[in-house]
Amino acid sequence: MNISALKEILTGQPNYRQQQVEKALYGDQIEDWSQVIALPEELRRRLAEACPLEIRADDTISGGDSRKALIVLEDGLKIEAVLMMHQGDRNTVCVSSQVGCPMKCAFCATGRLGLKRSLTADEIVEQVLYFARQLKKEHKRVTNVVFMGMGEPMINYDNVMTAIRTLNNPKGFNLGARRISVSTSGIPDGIRKFAREGLEVNLALSLHAPNNELRCKIMPVSTHHSLESVMEALAEYVQLTNRKIMFEYIMIKGVTDGPEQAHELVKLLSGWLGYVNLINYNQTDVFESSTRERIEAFKKILEDGHITVVQRYTFGEDIDGACGQLAARKEIKLD
Ligand code: SF4
Repeated sequence: MNISALKEILTGQPNYRQQQVEKALYGDQIEDWSQVIALPEELRRRLAEACPLEIRADDTISGGDSRKALIVLEDGLKIEAVLMMHQGDRNTVCVSSQVGCPMKCAFCATGRLGLKRSLTADEIVEQVLYFARQLKKEHKRVTNVVFMGMGEPMINYDNVMTAIRTLNNPKGFNLGARRISVSTSGIPDGIRKFAREGLEVNLALSLHAPNNELRCKIMPVSTHHSLESVMEALAEYVQLTNRKIMFEYIMIKGVTDGPEQAHELVKLLSGWLGYVNLINYNQTDVFESSTRERIEAFKKILEDGHITVVQRYTFGEDIDGACGQLAARKEIKLD
């Protein structure tokens, strides 16, 4: 799919054409311009020539409650997007914001790939459209979008925000802002900017360690932006938005999942407007997964410390498509 020529083609057309096109693309999720009978035939022909709508996906794997797509971009690079189907008609698409990622988190296979480039806003939305078109045929729809795939959204800030506004547009895709979540590894300037967007989009911090020393070991971003500076930016975010923060915490055996870390986490997060999401780590050759017993013990310490905890089932584990580890185990090639 490539709609970069759309603006040029619509130049000189009446204003309502733009709205018709947006509704067709994002609201009706058309796959072919011939489906938009509201547009003049000549315009449809030009659009079909210059703005192909086919989304090329190299490989789609279905496994239980998840589907993974390896989407091929115009320049041949590939990105992964995952659809997670929950009970009760909730269908969440986990999107990538970059091809690869420069943040080099030690537990994340995507980090090991390095950064190829950031995605355009259209390429981000394309991932959602890919699954939206599939679900439409099954009389279902995408109900949630999370920026938890490849890449750090805050360093592709403008394109991520443009994609969010496209998805949120009531005359287009019409996905409520509260149904969109952005996860960051902790870029204070980005968090401050995000706090001032005036959108009710959810914010998650990939925390993964209760102190800066441990965090530096598994998340090099902490050597540039200390945990303290990230928490200061988050405090500003909460003050301005009065919105809860989701603190994502990965359970790696012997590294992040001990009782000492749990007690430290209670100390760090006491009094915060937010909750902790404990994430099972999908074992790789670098780290081991925590055990059920260790996770339960960790959770109990948090709950005894009056911290709200949710535990995310690692969707997509069976297809190597769990968020943050999209390229895990079966190494994917981005080009
Ligand atoms: S966990 Fe997220 S921020 Fe860290 S390397 Fe992986 S994709 Fe990048």
